[in-house]
Amino acid sequence: MMGYDAIFFDGAEDSRMIAMALAEGRVVLTRDTRIVNRRLVTSGQLKVILIESDRPDLQMLQVIDSLGLDCRFKPFTVCLECNQPLLAVAKEQVKDLVPPYVFKTQNQYMRCPGCHRIYWRGTHWQAMTRQLDSFG
Ligand SMILES: [Zn+2]
Repeated sequence: MMGYDAIFFDGAEDSRMIAMALAEGRVVLTRDTRIVNRRLVTSGQLKVILIESDRPDLQMLQVIDSLGLDCRFKPFTVCLECNQPLLAVAKEQVKDLVPPYVFKTQNQYMRCPGCHRIYWRGTHWQAMTRQLDSFG
């Protein structure tokens, strides 16, 4: 949401996640205390944030505070699904790809070059923007 480079891993891929974090200098965000207790973490080679809350808004606040992030960094510039930078796309090009009501009411669209998902500034975007503003 904030535009930071972020990759999602499901629980079955710990070793691949840790290898990638080490290779690419990434910070691991997890609720899994077993990861926090690994030697790589306790020795300081791998930075891990143990997420404390069940609530997504509090989880985001913890990450923003822990890493000193700017919640207005580059909002909604990266695909929420696959982490690719979004590209602007002309309205005419999405005519058959978005619901008719959206096409009628929205003029600006972004497309993910990875998964081809189309983004626009609808009600979901407005709700997420309000949430980001509440952090600032
Ligand atoms: Zn995508």
